[in-house]
Amino acid sequence: MTRTVLVTGGNRGIGRAVAEAFLDEGALVAVTHRGRECPNGVFGVKCDVRDREQVDAAFTAVEAELGTVDVLVANAGITDSTLITRMTEDRFASVVDTNLTGAWRCARRAATPMVRARHGRMIFMSSVVGLYGSAGLTNYAASKAGLIGLARSLARELGSRGVTANVVAPGYVNTDMTAALPEQYGKQYRDAIPLRRFAEPEEVAATVVWLASDEARYVTGAVIPVDGGLGMGH
Ligand code: NDP
Repeated sequence: MTRTVLVTGGNRGIGRAVAEAFLDEGALVAVTHRGRECPNGVFGVKCDVRDREQVDAAFTAVEAELGTVDVLVANAGITDSTLITRMTEDRFASVVDTNLTGAWRCARRAATPMVRARHGRMIFMSSVVGLYGSAGLTNYAASKAGLIGLARSLARELGSRGVTANVVAPGYVNTDMTAALPEQYGKQYRDAIPLRRFAEPEEVAATVVWLASDEARYVTGAVIPVDGGLGMGH
């Protein structure tokens, strides 16, 4: 059966690699974007995950074009780093609104059709930082830790209806997000990673595709690190 996959923030970075990996698997793939170009072969829908109406409209458009969403990959995310003494409440709230509440909005919209179909996969893009913590990232780490509670609650709530909910926790990945890091931090982070390098987006995408596969049908409520060993146990 051909599955329909929706990846939020699928126009670049990890989300784009996830969308392309699902296309290679023969899935019908939709991505949300905010006006930028999307990968070839996907159905692109404009959507800002901070806006409930845009999230609802995006799902409705995908359902009309490709059918009910079987696999949701809640990937859209931002960072806005500064020390807590300098962080305004707005900067905290806007990161949480995008990374955590945005994922919740998508999960809420995805849940009813998945429950009705007695099948669904929800995959949330967290981060090693969610459990490990990182100075300067109180907003981001809180949002990423929150995704774990969100996914595990969904796993308990929806498991009896055939819906799984899992978390992928990447370490540092070569995307625009990490390209913005000053080089001295990049080297410091690489030295702390047992595999001594950042991941490529495709390496994260492979885990996401596996979680959506039939082989992973008995996996739910899991947090899967793809971090080169950085987090180990966190
Ligand atoms: P990028 O900055 O390359 O891409 C982020 C994506 O999220 C873009 O598609 C962006 O859209 C989208 N996005 C941001 N804000 C919103 C919003 N309000 N509504 C809808 N879409 C939005 O990041 P990465 O690919 O590196 O990161 C993807 C995910 O992986 C994020 O959740 C990130 O936190 C997580 N992650 C990344 C790591 C890394 O090292 N790169 C490590 C661990 C986790 P647009 O193009 O319009 O801005």
